[in-house]
Amino acid sequence: MPSALNLLFLSSEVAPFAKTGGLGDVSAALPRTLHRHGHDVRVFMPLYARIDRKKFAFRRVETLRELPIIIGRRVFEVSIYAATLPGSTLEIFFVHCPALYSRASIYSHDGDEHLRFLVLAYAALECAQRMRFAPDVVHCNDWQTAMVPLLLKTRFAWDQKIFGRTKTVLTIHNLNYQGMFPASIVGDTGLGDSQHLLHQDQLRDGRINFLLHGILYANAITTVSPTYAREIRGSEYGVGLDGALRSRGSAVKGILNGVDYEEWSPEADKLIPVRYGPEDLAGKARCKQALLARAKLPALPDVPVIGIVSRLAGQKGFDLFPPALPRLLAKERFQLVVTGSGERHFERMFRQLQAQFPNQVRFNNAFDNEMAHWIEAGSDFFLMPSRYEPCGLNQMYSLKYGTVPIVRKTGGLADTVELWNPRARTGTGIVFETYDAFGLYWAISEALKVYRDRPAYRQLQQNGMAQNFSWDHQVEHYEQLYRQL
Ligand code: ADP
Repeated sequence: MPSALNLLFLSSEVAPFAKTGGLGDVSAALPRTLHRHGHDVRVFMPLYARIDRKKFAFRRVETLRELPIIIGRRVFEVSIYAATLPGSTLEIFFVHCPALYSRASIYSHDGDEHLRFLVLAYAALECAQRMRFAPDVVHCNDWQTAMVPLLLKTRFAWDQKIFGRTKTVLTIHNLNYQGMFPASIVGDTGLGDSQHLLHQDQLRDGRINFLLHGILYANAITTVSPTYAREIRGSEYGVGLDGALRSRGSAVKGILNGVDYEEWSPEADKLIPVRYGPEDLAGKARCKQALLARAKLPALPDVPVIGIVSRLAGQKGFDLFPPALPRLLAKERFQLVVTGSGERHFERMFRQLQAQFPNQVRFNNAFDNEMAHWIEAGSDFFLMPSRYEPCGLNQMYSLKYGTVPIVRKTGGLADTVELWNPRARTGTGIVFETYDAFGLYWAISEALKVYRDRPAYRQLQQNGMAQNFSWDHQVEHYEQLYRQL
């Protein structure tokens, strides 16, 4: 059996402590699975004020209290707390620094946003030193921790005993969030004499981009699906970083996210009204009734429910709705249940749809985990018409719940949902290619058509429920990568 690895894992979100999207789910499930596989995983995240301190048993780590973190001319005092990740024996380490993390939300637009996450990076590396924990790999996630590979080559390079054989992996969960700051913060990186290793052209243009530095200096860069890994090497999806990604050649890889089926399967789900499985879908019908009752929508026989659980951001395809949805809702018999929050104009649009179609549309304007589970269980279809999608988790959850996904063929959606083929009776969802209102209109109409053909719809459901995207399998790709570095 191969030897266990020492893994230092850094993330700005770990569910259920803090989560705004898929990053939180992945940063819980991947370390949990690695831990179960016998690796020594130390996960660090900020102790945000909004984390419910009473809900989880936090303990202060006495050997890691009141540590001065010195970055440039600034000093931050941090203490480390620990709590067990639910569903695991893995301990998560939390960086307590009220000056930085006592904010209303996980992310901010405050002038010190760069420092909030540089302190996470510095604190995690300093704690590794103090714990005498020599990582084989430091696994960073997104821009918040993307400066770590450069910090290891500079500020922490002297400590050969701890970091002498450390390699780095940067996982990009979404290339659009890059951590772009004015060049004036360069002193706050704490790089001192090593500032020449920063991207000089950008500095001259007055900017510093944290994610770019991770792409340049990490030993390996992964993103969360093979298709997205290909797409971001081109200008359409590259968000200005396609050149840097191409320059890293085979160091850039796509590893599909997995699903935590303890949380997200109709057999194990503790939040849904009735549990069910592929052999007995009566429970799903009851979940649908319960969802409609909760949403205060009339229960109408043979009328399908389309569910949406999403951040309301441009990425997710909602700008296709105004030209397609009102016509469809007026013409076809279906209901739409939406849970989401985000950009104001999308929230307004969903409120308007609800006002115009009160018996068909319900908009729950919230980040609501329980409702997310109810929608997965109680809907007949799940809609994700994304403009781009690094991986997407909800379509994979939907498959397991027998909730047929309607998706656009991009990124992880293209890798996980296969178009229904009525002749061969293969496929797991409805997939459209061209990002426009006509594509969306076609996809929803097609879904409704399949729904009316009961045997076809049942087969489509069963095909999806038979899919397996479990982390136990996906984690092997990471283990292989860690060992290759
Ligand atoms: P992204 O990371 O781009 O937001 P993913 O599909 O990868 O998209 O992951 C989204 C995760 O966040 C899923 O677990 C989903 O259930 C959850 N989520 C998104 N919006 C909401 C919401 N409004 N309420 C509850 N959970 C949500």
